[in-house]
Amino acid sequence: MSFKTLKLSTKLLHTLKKLGYTEPTEIQQKAIPLLLKGHDILATSQTGTGKTAGFVLPMLENLKEDTEVKQGDDRYKIKALILVPTRELALQVQTKTEEYGKAFSHKSVALYGGVKLGSQTTQIRSGANIAIATTGRLLDHIKNKTINLSEVEIVILDEADKMLEMGFIDDIRAILALLPKKIGDKKRQSIMFSATFPPIIMKLAKSFLENPKIVEIDKENLSTKQVAQVVHYVNVEQKMSLLSTLIRNNDWHQVLIFTNTKLQADKIVEHLNHEKIDARAIHGDKSQGQRIEALHAFKNKTVRVLVATDVAARGIDIINLPHVINFELPVKNEDYIHRIGRTGRAKQEGEALSLVCTEEVAQLKEIETLINKPLPTIETEGFTYTSNIQASSKKVSNKNSTDEEKKKALTLKKAKEFAQKMMGKPEMLPQNNSKKKKSGRQSPSNKRHF
Ligand code: AMP
Repeated sequence: MSFKTLKLSTKLLHTLKKLGYTEPTEIQQKAIPLLLKGHDILATSQTGTGKTAGFVLPMLENLKEDTEVKQGDDRYKIKALILVPTRELALQVQTKTEEYGKAFSHKSVALYGGVKLGSQTTQIRSGANIAIATTGRLLDHIKNKTINLSEVEIVILDEADKMLEMGFIDDIRAILALLPKKIGDKKRQSIMFSATFPPIIMKLAKSFLENPKIVEIDKENLSTKQVAQVVHYVNVEQKMSLLSTLIRNNDWHQVLIFTNTKLQADKIVEHLNHEKIDARAIHGDKSQGQRIEALHAFKNKTVRVLVATDVAARGIDIINLPHVINFELPVKNEDYIHRIGRTGRAKQEGEALSLVCTEEVAQLKEIETLINKPLPTIETEGFTYTSNIQASSKKVSNKNSTDEEKKKALTLKKAKEFAQKMMGKPEMLPQNNSKKKKSGRQSPSNKRHF
């Protein structure tokens, strides 16, 4: 199928051609025609599937181009609002909006925390009609009256499950309550994209969307087909040295490594740099400037390895990123799909490797069930995997275990708890939001290790 069949305007088709987009992805084929007709949609789609263009292209077409210079309070009026969970995603979606919207007179602004409000206000005032925002910063602008949402015609919740998981439900509700249901006699268009649909998402969708069309992509596409996924079993204490050995021996460049805690991310960077492998970390303790700079250096290939937590990695969009490594499996199984979606993007080939220690074996099985296939394993000379911990843990659950064995297992449990404390807590939400959250990110304590 070509983009032409989707009934996009000639000027947009021209832009897409220039960008080298020859045919729409599955989510684009399904979502664009519905959105062009003005329907609300509830779409399930992961990052890497082309979902951004799926909602941005029809938004650009549906919004009226306003060439008049805005005066007075009108200067703060926004016509399309895209809510996203993180700063990085806000920037990424805005970059795409500008890229796709080159032939239009629309202007977009990214509103996210960690930077001063002033320059964002100037951008709003100088004619932006599309805002891509994280919820906390948007509420700051609302409070300061530096944005006016009374004429929002199109509202999009991108990665809704992530936003809720990060505790933004109250913010989202507060923002949605401010939006008009109709502008003149035209109904507001509401769009929701989410990778998963827990009951809380369905509840929000029910109140937010009006007669939505459901858009799904094939389950098979959940874990991108172009990504070769492999597992390397390894003893936990050997993970660091295995990591540097693999990168060096295979001469890998542009390697994105995922880890669950900020502290672990910093430790990996320290280890790799010590091994003369240039690496940087991006996580919630890094300033916005540092995060943007690290990402930029990684994109330009001046830095070989980027180590990221799941939260910070949202919005990393690098075409043809060849290697993704899970230093540890994610806290939430669904994040495995998000993580590997960083490679094999836009139909390019990629490789995703997971370093799995004994304590992660059970979770790996859950992930294999989620993606509907077993993952092949690889081995490396000099890294022999032994599974002592698993044997000890098994004994705890065995009814006939002796007191001595139970004691040993308890000590092991304590040692693990201590180690976990030392390694730091899993990455929480970025501090881009002055509002106190009622529900924070789910505690991963039942899953984590190290
Ligand atoms: P997304 O899932 O929106 O983050 O997009 C993933 C990547 O696919 C981005 O780098 C897009 O620029 C790219 N992309 C989106 N749609 C297409 C398409 N139809 N053809 C080629 N590349 C695309």
